[in-house]
Amino acid sequence: MSMFDKNISQEKLKSLEFAEAAREQEWKAPSFALKLFQGSLDFSLINPFPKEDPEQKKACDEYMVKIEKFIRENLDPDEVDRTGEIPQKVYKGLADLGAFALKVPKEYDGMGFSQYSYNRIMHLISSYCGSTAVLLSAHQSIGVPQPLKLFGTPEQKKKYLPRFAKGAISAFALTEPEAGSDPRNMSTTATPTPDGRSFLLNGEKLWCTNGLIADLMVVMAVTPPKIINGKEIKQITAFIVEREFPGIENIHRCTFMGLHGIQNGLMRFNNVKVPRENIILGEGEGLKLALVTLNTGRLTLPAASTAAGKWCLNVARQWSTKRHQWGSAIGEHEAVALRLSYIASHTFAMDAVTWLTSAMADDKHRDIRLEAAIAKYFCTETAYKIVDETLQIRAGQGYETSQSLAQRGMDFWPVERALRDFRINRIIEGTTDIMHLFIAREALDPHLSKIKPLLSSKVPVNVKIGAALKMAGFYAAWYPPLWLPSAVGGDISGLPKPLSGHMVLVQQAAKKLARETFHEIAKYQQKLESKQSILNRIVDIGTELFAVSAVCSYAAMLVRDGQPNAVDLADSFCNDARKRINALFNESTNNSDPQQLKMAKKILAKEYEWMENQIIK
Ligand SMILES: Cc1cc2nc3c(=O)[nH]c(=O)nc-3n(C[C@H](O)[C@H](O)[C@H](O)COP(=O)(O)OP(=O)(O)OC[C@H]3O[C@@H](n4cnc5c(N)ncnc54)[C@H](O)[C@@H]3O)c2cc1C
Repeated sequence: MSMFDKNISQEKLKSLEFAEAAREQEWKAPSFALKLFQGSLDFSLINPFPKEDPEQKKACDEYMVKIEKFIRENLDPDEVDRTGEIPQKVYKGLADLGAFALKVPKEYDGMGFSQYSYNRIMHLISSYCGSTAVLLSAHQSIGVPQPLKLFGTPEQKKKYLPRFAKGAISAFALTEPEAGSDPRNMSTTATPTPDGRSFLLNGEKLWCTNGLIADLMVVMAVTPPKIINGKEIKQITAFIVEREFPGIENIHRCTFMGLHGIQNGLMRFNNVKVPRENIILGEGEGLKLALVTLNTGRLTLPAASTAAGKWCLNVARQWSTKRHQWGSAIGEHEAVALRLSYIASHTFAMDAVTWLTSAMADDKHRDIRLEAAIAKYFCTETAYKIVDETLQIRAGQGYETSQSLAQRGMDFWPVERALRDFRINRIIEGTTDIMHLFIAREALDPHLSKIKPLLSSKVPVNVKIGAALKMAGFYAAWYPPLWLPSAVGGDISGLPKPLSGHMVLVQQAAKKLARETFHEIAKYQQKLESKQSILNRIVDIGTELFAVSAVCSYAAMLVRDGQPNAVDLADSFCNDARKRINALFNESTNNSDPQQLKMAKKILAKEYEWMENQIIK
């Protein structure tokens, strides 16, 4: 977003430029979501709904039976929650099952599962024990195996990947006390030794999941700056760091509201000597590596969200039938009934989005950066609401711990633990606010890449004129058709009746979204970057349109496979999504943002501090 480079503070500008330099500049493969934001629906990109490779499916089904049996017999998630420890026998058993090498290719002794199959396994484990799911996910969604698989040299792969088949655990260390969402604040340094063959690592890493027990870590550190156009540019580099390297100190194990079993903490690196050959991808390429790794890495969270939704559906359905108040089962009272249908239809939508994006990740001819971010954002927000609604249905017994419920002989579904464990998913691997910004940046890229040369003071006038003419030509062809009706892009003839209607709406709404986005760019130009309320609405509409499309394609497949009432769930979700889309379009012209933003400024200036009275501070 650095092209909107006027009227924002120098510090903010530097952070934006830093993030901008790390993003993938080109779109080498098609993206369904990018087209939607551009006003064009190409349903053929997601329909027929992609399926798991049959051979992988068979192997994964067999594996899931084994791992389910193992965790049922050996792992008590409530005990993990109470004691804060995953038992050693569980680490060992998981290692024996190859659970730390799920996506490691078979040639390196791994299980060789696809992203789709891996996500199914994580879905299963997430439905049982959040801490164990996060142990495995931090290790192989973002930990060493993933970036090594993507970017490792043959030597690095040969040296490290087989260790995961034997149970080596890894971690991903990016965050620092002062570097949360903004990696430019990173201060851990990696200084080259005089012979240039190694680097000395110094600094602290915070909230590194598995960090305290990891055998191997990906550590991001600041390496010597590069001078580009006379400007010193900060460089971040990714290193594979072995636990045996002297100088690694575990300072503090953090404890959290949920996920009590994770080994997450504050770590210090004191002159840790790391050989140059342990750099992954290249010097200065660390942030790019993190972004690309997260594109697929963050897909575990939609899988975990879907599992949470299904688990909640199961609990909410049973309790709504069993519990009687005011003369009937609570599920028969409209307020509860509406919650139940929300849980079911929105879990269905998460299912669709999760498996669509999982399949996309395995298809090397797709650019999934937008779809993965949308899936993370949509599913973590939706699932949290679903867990909360389930707690509301369980009411007092939802708030009571499962141990206490069991002690007095009640149904002991651990809904309060689910809520505590799940909450973090709206924060890790990109907070919801950062996902909004990420999705907005990528969705607007086709415009920004055209406007960028016009806004930069460094671009010569003749180049600017050329760019302006090219841009004028593009918009003259692109913009007018956005006002005209057109047939839905891609074949919707196979969709059950109500769903084809929803896809017609997606087509119309995508055009409207593209028009309105263009108008906002024209209106605000440089300032749009900081208009997060506008950007968030654009992203939210695009997210709903993506989810509706995924749902329609998914339901059509399920109907073909003999599940006709999938259409009810799909139709119900789409109707809710349509209401939200209409409300968002409405709000884009009719909102109280200016008033609220003004008030926020006053809050920060302590003008309402008097309100914070009669409380114990
Ligand atoms: C349990 C747990 C596990 C974790 N695991 C790992 C791990 O394995 N490896 C790792 O490296 N890190 C890990 N993290 C760190 C996690 O990724 C960060 O917490 C996350 O990136 C957010 O950083 P922050 O908490 O410092 O929030 P901040 O960046 O301080 O943000 C605070 C608030 O401001 C908002 N905000 C910030 N910037 C903007 C902006 N530009 N526009 C709008 N809103 C903004 C945020 O959305 C948030 O609401 C973990 C954290 C926890 C708690």
